[in-house]
Amino acid sequence: MDRTWNNCRNDFPLLQEKVNDEPLVYLDNAATTQKPRSVIQASTDFYEHFNANIYRGVHTLSQRATAAYEAVRREAAEFIGAKSSAEIVFTKGTTDSLNMVAFGWALHRLGPGDEIAVSPAEHHSNLVPWQQVAKLTGAHLVYLPLADDGQLDLGLARVLIDDRTKLVALAQVTNVLGTIVPIKEVAKIAHQHGAKIVVDGAQAAGHLPVDVQDLDADFYAFSGHKMLAQTGVGVLYGKYDLLEQLTPFEFGGEMIDSVGLDEATFKEPPLKFEAGTQNISGVLSLGAAINYLLAIGQEEIARREQELTQDLLKQLTGLSGVTVYGPKIGTPRGPIVSFNLDGVHPHDLATALDLQGIAIRAGHHCAQPLLAWLGCSATARASLALYNNEEDLAALVKGVENAKEFFA
Ligand code: PLP
Repeated sequence: MDRTWNNCRNDFPLLQEKVNDEPLVYLDNAATTQKPRSVIQASTDFYEHFNANIYRGVHTLSQRATAAYEAVRREAAEFIGAKSSAEIVFTKGTTDSLNMVAFGWALHRLGPGDEIAVSPAEHHSNLVPWQQVAKLTGAHLVYLPLADDGQLDLGLARVLIDDRTKLVALAQVTNVLGTIVPIKEVAKIAHQHGAKIVVDGAQAAGHLPVDVQDLDADFYAFSGHKMLAQTGVGVLYGKYDLLEQLTPFEFGGEMIDSVGLDEATFKEPPLKFEAGTQNISGVLSLGAAINYLLAIGQEEIARREQELTQDLLKQLTGLSGVTVYGPKIGTPRGPIVSFNLDGVHPHDLATALDLQGIAIRAGHHCAQPLLAWLGCSATARASLALYNNEEDLAALVKGVENAKEFFA
């Protein structure tokens, strides 16, 4: 198996780069992943061989581009277990997808006295849109508390989600602590009260097998660039009847059925949500990324990343002066480890690591309420992908030790 994982590193040209004269150790995958050659090639092939606008032409190139674009919709549907490709809307990414639900669905359905349940661990993209909707509708935001280790307290979720709850919005994998949220259980609770559940899958898709039907998610959002595809493309999955209720929040070419002087009628979902010329090469890159991930196997990837993550947790926890946040070793989590080194600001630590060729992220990770919950203003965060290996982990641990000596 190791041979396979190390082989797959060779598929990623950027991993062969040097940074600051050191071989690159890329551990900022939660921000964005690197891209395999097949993904880069998918975009290049489009521009070299069949660049044309989709849906608009009877000419061969346009038909070819349309067929390739629609094929990815089917692949994306299969990738997350949707019932049909009509439930897949191409978006710019998770943020765009979540805003579509907030302003196309929640804004029109919520009112005073209604509640939106979130957790303090949400990325701002899965929090600020709900804050705005709450302000505009008079609904309340309710925070589902976290247990001491940062995991969602399911018992309290059971109490706090009630008949006033109209919407529950949670990440499947959180982006600072890597906690895995029991979406299936929460969906059951939400549905018992007639509420809908919106899942932020930005840190889950490409890392865990996702089955939206098994989860019983009403909406599921994810970004291509965090799962090997290019930036500027993502997906909003919605159960078809909910997509029918969703109001587009962008209007223009291609999403219309007919237009008169005062009125327009719109296409059926998903096309009514794809106004204007779409990110065609991005969608094709998403198709290539899905195929790359499927060729390795979603379960295999999840297992490999889990092993490496637990290994990293053990190693970092073993370093004196290092505080590692989140669930204890042995608890399954996404491939994300946040930590701090005593007396060293995470930005200084990240800079010291960068000088050694090691890329991590430092800061609040667009999750300021979670940082407040942790009681700190910033953390260092190492996040893994399928191409990371034991040497990357050793380099990080050595890098942190070097930084410790340097700042002592
Ligand atoms: N949700 C989570 C959990 C994230 O980690 C991120 C990005 O880091 C987002 C949403 C936003 O994703 P994007 O910037 O691709 O829209």
